[in-house]
Amino acid sequence: MKQNSSRPIRIVILGAGFAGVYAYLRLHELLHENAEKQITLISERDLFMFTPLIHEVATGTLLPSSITQSIRSLPPCCMHRFIEARVLRIDADAKKIFIHHINPEAPAPGIHIKEISEEEALFDYCIVALGSGVNFFNVPGAKEHALTLNTLEDARRVKNRVIESFEQAQITKSEAEKQRLLRFVIVGGGPTGVELAGELADFIHSELKKAFPLLHPYAEIRLYEARERFMCSADEWFGERAFQILSAKKHVLVFCAAPLSEVSSEGIRAGEEFIPAGTIIWTAGVQARNIDIVSKKRIPKDIKSRRIKVNEYLQISSYPHVFAAGDYAWIEAKEGGQPYPMRAQFAVREGEISAENITRLMNKKPLKEFFWRDRGLLVSIGKGTALAEIFGIQFSGAFAWIIYRAAYLLKIVGPRAKFRMALEWALNTFLPRDISKL
Ligand SMILES: Cc1cc2nc3c(=O)[nH]c(=O)nc-3n(C[C@H](O)[C@H](O)[C@H](O)COP(=O)(O)OP(=O)(O)OC[C@H]3O[C@@H](n4cnc5c(N)ncnc54)[C@H](O)[C@@H]3O)c2cc1C
Repeated sequence: MKQNSSRPIRIVILGAGFAGVYAYLRLHELLHENAEKQITLISERDLFMFTPLIHEVATGTLLPSSITQSIRSLPPCCMHRFIEARVLRIDADAKKIFIHHINPEAPAPGIHIKEISEEEALFDYCIVALGSGVNFFNVPGAKEHALTLNTLEDARRVKNRVIESFEQAQITKSEAEKQRLLRFVIVGGGPTGVELAGELADFIHSELKKAFPLLHPYAEIRLYEARERFMCSADEWFGERAFQILSAKKHVLVFCAAPLSEVSSEGIRAGEEFIPAGTIIWTAGVQARNIDIVSKKRIPKDIKSRRIKVNEYLQISSYPHVFAAGDYAWIEAKEGGQPYPMRAQFAVREGEISAENITRLMNKKPLKEFFWRDRGLLVSIGKGTALAEIFGIQFSGAFAWIIYRAAYLLKIVGPRAKFRMALEWALNTFLPRDISKL
C-alpha cells in the first residue's frame, strides 16, 4: 500500500451522517494497521444524528441527546482530524475542499456570529456524503411559513411551537382563533409525515390533553399527501394501513391526492379551499445538498433530486478518486434502473462500500460493485403501533412496534447512545412524555 511520495495518503470524508460515519468506521477497520493513511472527516456540526427518530424528539418521547452522538466519540485512532466546518466548494481537479469555520459558541444576545476562517483541505481520495435538505417543490409561501423536520433545531422548533400554540390558545377569546391555533397541518404523507402525525396525535391526546383540558376539543391534525396514497415509495399495503390507522385516531384527518397550492402565515390552500392553520410542518420532499463542485470534466447530476450520479463502484466516473454516498449520490439500482432510495440503510452500505473501494484503489485491486437489497421498512404510528416489512413479510400492531424499537436500538451507534435510548424508552412506557419546551 505504498505510494511514490513519502507523504501519507489523504482520505477526506465530507459529512458525518449515516454514509460518512459508516465510511469512517469501515476505513478504520480496513486501514487500522496502515500508518500511511490520513483520514479527515469534515462536517458542519460535531454531531451524528439518528434522523429516523427525530419525530420522537419533536413530540417529547425522546430528548435531543438520545438521538445524537459526538463525532469525537468515534474510534479516534484512525481519525487524523475531525473538522467542524461547512464545506463550501469541492475542486475535483485540484483535489481540494474549501471549508469555512464558524464560531461554534452561541453568541451572546446582540453579538454577531463571528466567522473564524476559511481553510483548504487537500485529498487523494474523497467521499462526498453531504446528505439532503428540504424540497419545497416551489409551493408559494412554503419556505417562508412552514416548519421543517430535518435537523435537531427543527425538532426543537416543532415541539416548542406545538406547546406555544396551546399556550396562545389559552389566552385568546376568539373561538375561530383557538381553532386556527390548534390546527396542525403536516404536509407530505411519506414515512416521516405518517410517523409525525401518529406521534403528534398521541402527544396531544395524552400529555397535552391533561395539561390543557379545555383546549383539547379544538385540536386537529391534518395530514396532506399530493399523490394517490401515503408512502408511495413503499408497497401499497403501507399506504393503506397508515391511512386506516391514522383515520381511526381522534381528531386526525387524512387527505390523499390533495396537493397544496399555497402556504401562508394564516393557513394553507388545498385546491380551492383555504384552511386556517397555526402550524404547518413540511415533510414533503428532499433534495441533495447544493454544494459547488468545480470541475473541468462533466459531473452528471439528476436534475430533480440534485443527486450526483455515480457509477456502480460509487465513483464519479470522470473523477474516479471522488466517491459519493448516501442521499447525495444517485446510483442506478441493478433491478429496474431506478435510483436507490434516500434511506438510512442504503446510506450506511454506500458509505461502507465507498470506503472499501478506496482501500481497493490503494491496493490496486478490482473494485467492488454496490448492490443492496432492501432489508425492509419500519414505520411507527404513535405509541404502541407500527408497520413493518421484514424480508418481504408485512405486519402491523404492537409486535411491529416492539421490532421497530429493538431494530433502532441495535442500529444506533455506540453503547452510551444505546443505553440512553433504551432507558428513555423504558421510562416512557410507564411515564408521560416530557412536555417542557426545548
Ligand atoms: C425526519 C427524517 C426521518 C427519516 N426517517 C427515516 C427512516 O425512518 N428510515 C430510513 O431509512 N431513513 C429515514 N430518513 C432518511 C435518512 O435519514 C437519510 O437517508 C440518511 O440520513 C442519509 O444519510 P446521509 O449520510 O446521506 O446524509 P445525512 O445523514 O443527512 O448526513 C449528512 C451530513 O452532512 C452534513 N453536511 C451537510 N451539508 C454540509 C456542508 N455544507 N458542510 C459540512 N457538513 C455538511 C450534515 O450536517 C450531516 O451531518 C429520514 C430522514 C428524515 C429527515
